[in-house]
Amino acid sequence: MERDLEIYIHIPFCARKCGYCDFLSFPASEEAKERYVRALVRDILDEGTPAYAVRTVFMGGGTPSLLREGQTAEILEAVHRAFQVDRDAEVTIEANPGTLTKEKLRAYRQMGINRLSMGLQSVSDRELKLLGRIHTYQDFLDNYWEARRAGFDNINVDLMSALPGQTAADWREGLRRTAALEPEHISAYSLIVEEHTPFYERYGRDRERLERGEEPVFLPGEEEERRMYADTLEILSQAGYRRYEISNYARPGRECRHNKGYWKRTPYLGFGLGAASLLEGRRFRRVQEMGAFLERPGAREEETALSRQEEMEETLFLGLRLTKGVSEEEFFRLFGEPLDKAYEKPLEDMLRAGLLERREGWVRLTRRGIDVSNYVMAQFLL
Ligand code: SF4
Repeated sequence: MERDLEIYIHIPFCARKCGYCDFLSFPASEEAKERYVRALVRDILDEGTPAYAVRTVFMGGGTPSLLREGQTAEILEAVHRAFQVDRDAEVTIEANPGTLTKEKLRAYRQMGINRLSMGLQSVSDRELKLLGRIHTYQDFLDNYWEARRAGFDNINVDLMSALPGQTAADWREGLRRTAALEPEHISAYSLIVEEHTPFYERYGRDRERLERGEEPVFLPGEEEERRMYADTLEILSQAGYRRYEISNYARPGRECRHNKGYWKRTPYLGFGLGAASLLEGRRFRRVQEMGAFLERPGAREEETALSRQEEMEETLFLGLRLTKGVSEEEFFRLFGEPLDKAYEKPLEDMLRAGLLERREGWVRLTRRGIDVSNYVMAQFLL
């Protein structure tokens, strides 16, 4: 029987770099994009195998919607030629507002893309400008309704909280306006001020203040951020969304199958610059330097065979991100050892502290545990 596989395809191009972004993405010429697509297609065809059944395909970035329709179609055709893709596979493309047209959206539908993930980030033009985004809120609305007209009935909208100068009231307003559009899925992450970004120059000091427990100048304080997180759950629950992962909310049955696969450690194969894979108990990535990638797009780096202990740790700290938690039965099936034996002390400590709960064969974070999830997960690194 074929085994499950997810495919991720990285498109590293963006119209312009956002001030907070540390992803592997950059602007590029049309020629450079074309060379990249050629290499990508070659790699997909070379790696193809009938040994797996592909359940999901995710084109992420970067801004995959910057590619021409013909290029996107070629990549997906290569996937279909090289792999057995389920007829009802979830096929997602990430798109930034301002890069979609009626023609492009219709072409996506025709090539079998059935899920659209839109990077809105904020409903405030002031905040969008501050983030360095290329679009306004109106650009997003235009693209969103055009996508609905093109037949997309599975749309995710990304929002970002804890922005400089943002209040909890601003954030609530953004959530309400987004929920009123009734997308099937909302991802709500908080801004992380990453090193080596323009934001770090501006707000790095603030980040340090926050880490020392002091009041920041531009960024929302710890208390305000916690409130934003609580408001997210409250507002989106009232609007009919269910939180299924620390930062992800969906209407019933509309969770992102692809991302759920990551948290459940379904094998995945990543194509494209720097794309990560988990396959046959090994983690590896494609090379991250463009020249090397174009020459040998299938070359791997950072390849490691995971030990049993590492697999156990991953099962815990990825699985606990899901509100459903980790199944004790599944853990035993995978490792031949009960969860409470493998992690006796941390499990007991976290249950006693009220940060984890154990119910009907599942172990999961409590509401309080979600607030300090990094701390809880760190306890399970043996
Ligand atoms: S659009 Fe996304 S990937 Fe591109 S620069 Fe902005 S945040 Fe980074």
